[in-house]
Amino acid sequence: MSTRGSAPALGFEDVLLTGLARDGGLYVPEVWPRFSPADIRALAGLPYAEAAARVMRPFVGDALDEGTLDTLLRDAYASFGHAAVAPLKQLDSRTWLMELFHGPTLAFKDFALQVVGRLFDHVLTRRGQRVTIVGATSGDTGSAAIEACKGRDRIEAFILHPQGRVSAVQRRQMTTVMDENVHNLAIEGTFDDCQDMVKAMFNDTAFRDEMGLSAVNSINWARIMAQIAYYFVAAAALGAPERRVAFAVPTGNFGNIFAGYAAAKMGLPVAKLIVGSNRNDILTRFFETGVMSMAEVHPTYAPSMDIQVSSNFERLLFEIFDRDGAAVAEAMAAFRATGKLDPGRARWRKACALFEAARLDDAETLAEIARLHRETGELIDPHSAIGIAAARSKADGKELSDPAVPIVALATAHPAKFPDAVEKATGVRPAVPARLGDLFSREERVSVLPNDLAQVQDFVRRHVRRNTPVPERA
Ligand SMILES: *Cc1c(COP(=O)(O)O)cnc(C)c1O
Repeated sequence: MSTRGSAPALGFEDVLLTGLARDGGLYVPEVWPRFSPADIRALAGLPYAEAAARVMRPFVGDALDEGTLDTLLRDAYASFGHAAVAPLKQLDSRTWLMELFHGPTLAFKDFALQVVGRLFDHVLTRRGQRVTIVGATSGDTGSAAIEACKGRDRIEAFILHPQGRVSAVQRRQMTTVMDENVHNLAIEGTFDDCQDMVKAMFNDTAFRDEMGLSAVNSINWARIMAQIAYYFVAAAALGAPERRVAFAVPTGNFGNIFAGYAAAKMGLPVAKLIVGSNRNDILTRFFETGVMSMAEVHPTYAPSMDIQVSSNFERLLFEIFDRDGAAVAEAMAAFRATGKLDPGRARWRKACALFEAARLDDAETLAEIARLHRETGELIDPHSAIGIAAARSKADGKELSDPAVPIVALATAHPAKFPDAVEKATGVRPAVPARLGDLFSREERVSVLPNDLAQVQDFVRRHVRRNTPVPERA
């Protein structure tokens, strides 16, 4: 069902392909499935893909039979460079690092996108449909989306990035993919220009239907669903359901940490969810003051969190508004009009029951990377460092003062994705993992286009393979 209450409820397949609901809301499950203590206990020690299948199965329903889901997940996580898929590493007496960066593009987005790409393929094949994915990226999301879509017969992918404004590693992770269904468009403009063009393409109904446009952006419910799994896996490994576990999450669009909230709703004993913000701290200000108010975006060392409005936050609003979609729609309209959202003291307190938040500026981020290197020998990327520091600043709080509650800090990117910041903090330049070692010698393929909607649309039209049937609209 939609968080704004007026779009029709859809089944899993349509939610997957539709992304945003037609009333502008986000899809959430009608009821949260519940895991019993025995269900949680049974996850400990399972191979990651198998545990993930158990967590996702209640959401998928009969859209995929059991064997198909199991095979799909095994295949998705076989592309990861660590046998544990999401290994835990102990940092100090109670803090654990969950490394979510062993996927093909070295960031946690692979956990969801490797699954979503395969789900798209499966559902589209069964329906005899094709889609055209268009997306804008400032770096990380684009490469994860390309890795997820490449070589998939039913998908044509066009990813726009601002020319000269993504790092060399990020650009090469996109442009060295040679599959014919992947099109990298370097736009002579900014990330905002790219994003505006993608929005404009979706708003051009004739073009959208002609091309069968679809998106794999962070509001897609299936991405959240896939991310819930690692919260269960980490907690079960550290003693849940007998032991409560806290999580610290560097947060941008609120997708990753909302998956932790979903896990709690499903019965996982989550002690706290700690939001880490950089200087773009709209969420931290909300949890501190009870009011969400828009501010300017500033570039930081953690660019994947340089976000003004966290789109997935609407899913939490829906819960604290007791699932009243009309009230959420009204609050969001007011937010758009005034730049302020005030859900009221009682609802804010409800949100604060599970969430804490802390912010770090760039200097504090570098200091935390340096401290971690000094004290643990680990090289940590700026995003992950923000989560760890947020956890430390809250570790004495009332819910967390019990040292028997472990804190799991999510490491969302490999340090080699942000080598300049890591080197600045530690004097050590992190090495790109061996399996990506030839990234800098591979051939690149990219089309440079002016910041002009008509020319971009024309490019898409000319490069989409013919006879794309329009996806059914529910
Ligand atoms: C996307 C991203 C984040 C933010 O995650 P959200 O789900 O948007 O909150 C944090 N760190 C890294 C490295 C990312 O790529």
